[in-house]
Amino acid sequence: MEQTLSIIKPDGVRKNIIGDVIRRFESRGLTVIAMRMLQMTKQEAQGFYAVHKERPFFDSLTDFMSSGPVVVMVLEGPDAIALNRKIMGATNYEEAEEGTIRKDFASSIESNVVHGSDAPETAKTEIAYFFSSLDIMA
Ligand code: UDP
Repeated sequence: MEQTLSIIKPDGVRKNIIGDVIRRFESRGLTVIAMRMLQMTKQEAQGFYAVHKERPFFDSLTDFMSSGPVVVMVLEGPDAIALNRKIMGATNYEEAEEGTIRKDFASSIESNVVHGSDAPETAKTEIAYFFSSLDIMA
């Protein structure tokens, strides 16, 4: 069993597709073991995406991520990190596979509906950014 952090980004919440996104995770064998709705400050978004701070899209990305509420979740399942990334689709929705969340719902490379951890170490750090061990129904 593996755990990963998933975020339904502000565009996903605005599009009213929280249920659709979660259904895609659950129907593919991922279980929600922690969940919360919150709105990040600009500073919190900068902290979350600190690895990208030198990238040209950092300022716009952190404005976007703090522009409205998000849903943060811990997903658990066999191979959860890779499976979640597969269900999400490629970062650029134009390159994402058919039937992925980003292919179906993203409207730009930035507004791509979901975040998912990309490796075990980042999953651990990202889960701890939003949840304490007592919040997680593992
Ligand atoms: N992003 C962007 N422009 C880019 C690349 C990425 O706005 O050229 C945004 C996009 O929202 C992406 C996030 O920055 O999801 C983090 O980028 P990363 O490369 O880590 O992609 P992800 O892991 O989310 O697929």
